[in-house]
Amino acid sequence: MSVTTATVDLKEIEEKVMSGERLTREEGTALYDVNDILFLGALARYVKEKKSGNYAYFNVNRHINLTNVCINRCKFCAFSADKDEPHAYTMEREEILARALEAPNIGATELHIVSGLHPDKPFDYYLEAISSCKEALPDIHIQAFTAVEIDYFARITGMTIRQVLEKLKEAGLGSMPGGGAEIFSGRVRGLTCEKKASGKRWLEIMRTAHELGLKSNATMLYGHVETKEERIDHLIKLRDLQDETGGFQSFIPLPFHPDNTDMTGIKRTTAIDDIKTMAISRLMLDNFDHVKAFWIMLGLKVAQLSLDFGSDDLDGTVVEEKITHMAGATTEESIEKEELIHLIKDAGRTPVERDTLYNIIKVYE
Ligand code: SF4
Repeated sequence: MSVTTATVDLKEIEEKVMSGERLTREEGTALYDVNDILFLGALARYVKEKKSGNYAYFNVNRHINLTNVCINRCKFCAFSADKDEPHAYTMEREEILARALEAPNIGATELHIVSGLHPDKPFDYYLEAISSCKEALPDIHIQAFTAVEIDYFARITGMTIRQVLEKLKEAGLGSMPGGGAEIFSGRVRGLTCEKKASGKRWLEIMRTAHELGLKSNATMLYGHVETKEERIDHLIKLRDLQDETGGFQSFIPLPFHPDNTDMTGIKRTTAIDDIKTMAISRLMLDNFDHVKAFWIMLGLKVAQLSLDFGSDDLDGTVVEEKITHMAGATTEESIEKEELIHLIKDAGRTPVERDTLYNIIKVYE
């Protein structure tokens, strides 16, 4: 096992992890230079097992992307469209409800709703999407709207973040996904998504959501123009906010998919980068209970492997994912529950079906 890099003593890092001591920015950055991924895996697995034993979670959910029309047109986004483009679409109430009503047929406990920022749709359009789904399916958990969408609703209505979130909560919003975080660095946002809410704003929205009792996830889109220092800075900002609020349920590292985006010249991340990022995230985010392997973006094989490198959750059955598939993801758009159970069991873990808030629905011993 290699125990040194140019800048840090890995033995010292190992001892810190074993004694539950927090890793510094310098240590986190140096871990990216470690080529011994089994060393990283062993440490990340130790932390994962301390937090969730042998369990690996999944849920049964249905995604609904209300519209792909978006004013931001981020460079890394293959999903969005201008409203006059042929592939632009916007669902109206009946279509949204029809999709939502499929959820109970597949045993879904969650509707996962994220969308573009449509220039002509008022806040009420988004609000009614939530309230009509909740009315039709009162027992379903609705996880919806990234901080970027919340920022947009505040801007088009003149309401505060708190007011927007309170309205959505009243309408049936149960929790928030973690998208839109990308990389918090202003440099990276300037190059990739200059119109998007800033990193500071994203964190402020999450702070407010957590204060209102809304749990959320957090993501990091990596593998484009960011440096490893900017990745670690992103993780530390999340860790700091989690210290304050405790409102993040899970962290989800998302590898960038360049196809059909304005950044097609960039190479896809390698399996090694994906696995390292999973392990380093697990090690840096000592106050997050869960680190999720989103198989849609990682691919099923790397996602399964990552269960040995710090992740403890394979997300869900998903059903009809559009955002990553427009960017060339070759994974399925959905997966059967039995397949998730098989992947988890084959990795030597115990599959646990959970609801959105990590209440256990069933343990598959
Ligand atoms: S990433 Fe989100 S905000 Fe950016 S263009 Fe795509 S849908 Fe719009």
